[in-house]
Amino acid sequence: MVPTSVGAVFFMDFYTPLYYNTSIMNEEFDIENLTTPAVGPEETVFENTLRPSELKDFIGQEQIKQNLNISVQAAKKRSEPLEHVLLYGNPGLGKTTLAHIIAKEMNANIKVTSGPALEKIGDLAAILSNLEAGEILFIDEIHRLNKTIEEILYPAMEDYSLDIIIGSGPAARTIRMPLNRFTLIGATTKMSMISGPLRDRFGHSFHLNFYEPSDIEQILSRNAKILNVNIDSDSTSLIAGRARRTPRVANRLLKRVRDFAEVHNEGLIDLAAAKKALALLSIDEHGLDDIDRRILTTMIEKFGGGPVGLNTLAAAAAEEMDTIEDVYEPYLLQTGFLERTPRGRKATPLAYRHLGFEEPKNNTLL
Ligand code: ADP
Repeated sequence: MVPTSVGAVFFMDFYTPLYYNTSIMNEEFDIENLTTPAVGPEETVFENTLRPSELKDFIGQEQIKQNLNISVQAAKKRSEPLEHVLLYGNPGLGKTTLAHIIAKEMNANIKVTSGPALEKIGDLAAILSNLEAGEILFIDEIHRLNKTIEEILYPAMEDYSLDIIIGSGPAARTIRMPLNRFTLIGATTKMSMISGPLRDRFGHSFHLNFYEPSDIEQILSRNAKILNVNIDSDSTSLIAGRARRTPRVANRLLKRVRDFAEVHNEGLIDLAAAKKALALLSIDEHGLDDIDRRILTTMIEKFGGGPVGLNTLAAAAAEEMDTIEDVYEPYLLQTGFLERTPRGRKATPLAYRHLGFEEPKNNTLL
């Protein structure tokens, strides 16, 4: 991990001023960037700066923390590796952060890869056979693992062994190679895409939920201190209320509002500056952005509020189906703007009212 952090320092020095200058000069913001699950190199540096490294600094998700704490302490007492852990939840809720915290709490080294990065069986076999006793392997987006590659994980997770096929045709034979005892931490945004056999091999499975606004406020206050940002408590609450109950979005908003305050308010984030910056970003009081509103408006204007299938909705709203399903829909469901029915998605009366449409009389959700 050391070379990564050396590289990270270089990136920060090189890219940070460039990034700020661009946003200040153009006075415009990349709105999609607030919700996108993709994290570029500069943002990785930014996130790493803010990533809590100990369980006590990981805010919210109390039940998960309590359960994890007990399991970690018990495993340490027995001098055994922790059972395999599956973390699932929306992008930006803290899965990667939690994986690194588990490694730190277990005093274990962590190796990081992702489902799409493992293209051949040999890629995963090489990683597994090089794991030291007690080490942690973190596989992000584990639902995107190719099925044939996934199968070599089964004996590795269950018996700490690797089945290697030597030769081909009738002469082929399988050799079982022992592995060191390790812990696999898998992260996914799509639990439904994890196969039964893989899911069953995880000893722990934790669902990260959207955060309470008060948790997001705490995260923002902590991060403002780390970043040396001058922000008052009213502005912290305002930003927290619009951060889609997601720490990554809160961090992104803080960064944008800080940029705005640097240019227009001598660096001070007060309520007036925060409101103006959020208005420029088109984030409304429910945390909805332009794309959320486009999705809902399309449902209402083109499909009478629904029900409408995801496929059709994605085409009509000019958005990727996966993006709607993974990024926008969970928050719209959570906040009560959208409803899923067996016949498709429906806009709720709240969506009609919020967007200024007259509610239809025959809406069965009324
Ligand atoms: P995921 O892997 O689920 O997409 P990350 O773990 O990368 O999400 O979290 C994104 C950012 O949000 C991290 O850099 C971290 O700063 C912040 N974060 C996430 N969860 C928490 C938390 N519970 N407390 C404080 N910060 C958090």
